Amino acid sequence: MTTTITHWISGARADATSGQQLPVYNPATGAVTGQVQLASHADVDAAVASAKAAFPAWSNLPPLRRARVLNQFLALLNVHRDDLARMITAEHGKVFTDAQGEVTRGIEIVEFACGAPQLLKSDFTDQVSTNIDNWTLRQPLGVVAGITPFNFPVMVPMWMFPMALATGNTFVLKPSPIDPSPSLFIAELLKEAGLPDGVFNVVQGDKEAVGALIAHPDVQAISFVGSTPIANHIYETGARHGKRVQALGGAKNHLVVMPDADMDQVVDALIGAAYGSAGERCMAVSVAVFVGDDTADKVLPKLIERTKALKVLDGTNLDAEMGPIVTRAAHERISGYIEQGIREGAQLLVDGRGFDGAQAGTGCEGGFWMGGTLFDHVSTDMRIYKEEIFGPVLACVRVPDFAEAVRIINEHEFGNGVSCYTRDGHIAREFGRRIQVGMVGINVPIPVPMAWHGFGGWKKSLFGDMHAYGEEGVRFYTKQKSIMQRWPQATAKGAEFAMPTSK
Ligand code: NAD
Repeated sequence: MTTTITHWISGARADATSGQQLPVYNPATGAVTGQVQLASHADVDAAVASAKAAFPAWSNLPPLRRARVLNQFLALLNVHRDDLARMITAEHGKVFTDAQGEVTRGIEIVEFACGAPQLLKSDFTDQVSTNIDNWTLRQPLGVVAGITPFNFPVMVPMWMFPMALATGNTFVLKPSPIDPSPSLFIAELLKEAGLPDGVFNVVQGDKEAVGALIAHPDVQAISFVGSTPIANHIYETGARHGKRVQALGGAKNHLVVMPDADMDQVVDALIGAAYGSAGERCMAVSVAVFVGDDTADKVLPKLIERTKALKVLDGTNLDAEMGPIVTRAAHERISGYIEQGIREGAQLLVDGRGFDGAQAGTGCEGGFWMGGTLFDHVSTDMRIYKEEIFGPVLACVRVPDFAEAVRIINEHEFGNGVSCYTRDGHIAREFGRRIQVGMVGINVPIPVPMAWHGFGGWKKSLFGDMHAYGEEGVRFYTKQKSIMQRWPQATAKGAEFAMPTSK
């Protein structure tokens, strides 16, 4: 049986007017499990109109009352954490325990957004000039939109809408058509939590829906997370339409292994960070940088053994370490990169192609399966080094010293996440200071910042000034206003023609 995945407009499911839809798959079995409707311009107009109508009342509510709705939502999320995780596994394929982790990281942003009254507290200067006070406040923008990728269908929307709603905006979410179901469940939970109709809307779809949102005169800001070419396009087009845009793009994350690192910890870190979620994480480690051949030679035998022993299983199996690839097209792209790596002269140590779905569980024969792949002697001119593969492929690069490790990372066009494994405090400090990457881990393989710190890469991993969530999230979804005030008794007589200065 397949389900139909509709929009959510004005507090209810709403059918698309386009008549177009796309199949949704269970990547573990290859079976079609649903049909997602695709928005036309008219559907986007309806969602934006609903959000626009809801804005005056929602933005006028005291922040504490908005936070109370989010608190109710938080309670419901905690009740339904596993339901959401199951939905993620069913359409994305990632293993259930990883999906639970995704939901938890999303919940943390909601917890942060529940602090809206504190987050929106303003600055005040008493007596900025004689008898004059000056204060700044941050006001919401209006209707804002979020366009999200397939790889975190719960967490990435939650980087956006809890912050946007807490600060008084109304929201239109355009999820990935690959795993759209959680968006509707989230909408239902928000309604159950007491969110007024129209404050949160969902339009399903792809390119056309995005085009309509970006050009819509009533959409004030766009938050985007996805691949770099689309992020770049969204940033430029959004700016041309006068919108505030934060567009987070792709990545190629390096993990540097210094000779003094704890090698068992390194192997654990690389296995989890390269192959967890089948490498389909923007913070996945896709390049291991070994400082010195000795370091590589110590780690690689263990890494080969562990890559071959990965438990690649149906994500619903609680023993699973890695699930299937998200789509057949992604499977083909990743296989193509492996072929490319061989052609370019990298040494293939473990080949994940040809993994038989039957090994993953009953009924998995038709799924999009692949094992972990490991390359050694990858050089910086190879495409498998330069481009984002977004699959379970780890490229090992050997460099002679720390300076060279820093140099190649700084020259890479992406700058999302990076990690350094060492026991040397000086190296760790130098690494943190010199590396041209937005999110840095020292002996932490996937340094995703916590809710109150904000998430964002550098270089081609982020277009725009402000990172997602944290204080920058508050700034992104609000505009600053400065008010200067004095009362008639204190007003000096006569017009002033010189620049006002403090008196
Ligand atoms: P994607 O760029 O294909 O799609 C992202 C969103 O854009 C989806 O909602 C999709 O429907 C829409 N879209 C796709 N093509 C479009 C087009 N031509 N015009 C307008 N909209 C379009 O990305 P994906 O495959 O869903 O996700 C994987 C990518 O996202 C990877 O590159 C990954 O690194 C990146 N990502 C980055 C971060 C980060 O924080 N930097 C986080 C998660 C994922």
